[in-house]
Amino acid sequence: MMRDEAVNEIFSTAEAEGRDFLFEHEAKNLCALYGLPVTKITVEETEDDAVEAAKKLGFPVVLKIVSPQVLHKSDAGGVLIDIKDEAGVREGYKAILENVKAYAPDAEITGILVQEMAPWGTEVIVGSTKDPTFGATLMFGLGGIFVEILKDVSFRLIPINRSDAEEMVKEIKAYKILEGARGKPPSDREAIVEILLKTSEMLVACPEISELDMNPVLVYEEGAKVVDARIIL
Ligand code: ADP
Ligand code: MG
Repeated sequence: MMRDEAVNEIFSTAEAEGRDFLFEHEAKNLCALYGLPVTKITVEETEDDAVEAAKKLGFPVVLKIVSPQVLHKSDAGGVLIDIKDEAGVREGYKAILENVKAYAPDAEITGILVQEMAPWGTEVIVGSTKDPTFGATLMFGLGGIFVEILKDVSFRLIPINRSDAEEMVKEIKAYKILEGARGKPPSDREAIVEILLKTSEMLVACPEISELDMNPVLVYEEGAKVVDARIIL
């Protein structure tokens, strides 16, 4: 299968380092290669570099831990959002390292992710797992309780076409929320359809991906942003 060299490089780096997962920045770089709208990110290894990166991105920023032992970053106190200035980056950088040390004393620290702070929007989730019989599936649902408690999600096998993607969006029970309810503005459903189509393309081109979790994707009146992405190989 023809793939961009940059795609192969992401997988071969993980393999060379003996990892069966991609770090968030690698997962997002991969997503970006398939046209998915991800937050801008850099990985930094010193507090001063994190400050420089934040200034370049523009405030507010988000800081997150990058560690092979910490896949669920906020559980470890490894995510700080809405950091408004240089002093906040310096404090946050130290706080994340301390939090992670307390949570998992043996965790290796690869670096600190500095990323663009996405404005708040309607939270949705796009995911994939591999069915032993049918292969890769694509899942869509609203974030938070809708997926975790109500299991209100739609599924398809990949690849999907545009009308599959449109159906996936419409068939969840909470669809009305995306249409805009109780004074909430409607969410850009076309942006979600595009994300589902591009994710399907990525999954077809990258059979290395055994599990994908974009949680959350924030959807706006216009457009959407993937703020977290996790990939298991
Ligand atoms: P976890 O590994 O714990 O799932 P996330 O990267 O999802 O960590 O971050 C936790 C929460 O922080 C997200 O659910 C989201 O609400 C918020 N968040 C993370 N990144 C951003 C961002 N770039 N912009 C805005 N909010 C963010
Ligand atoms: Mg998350």
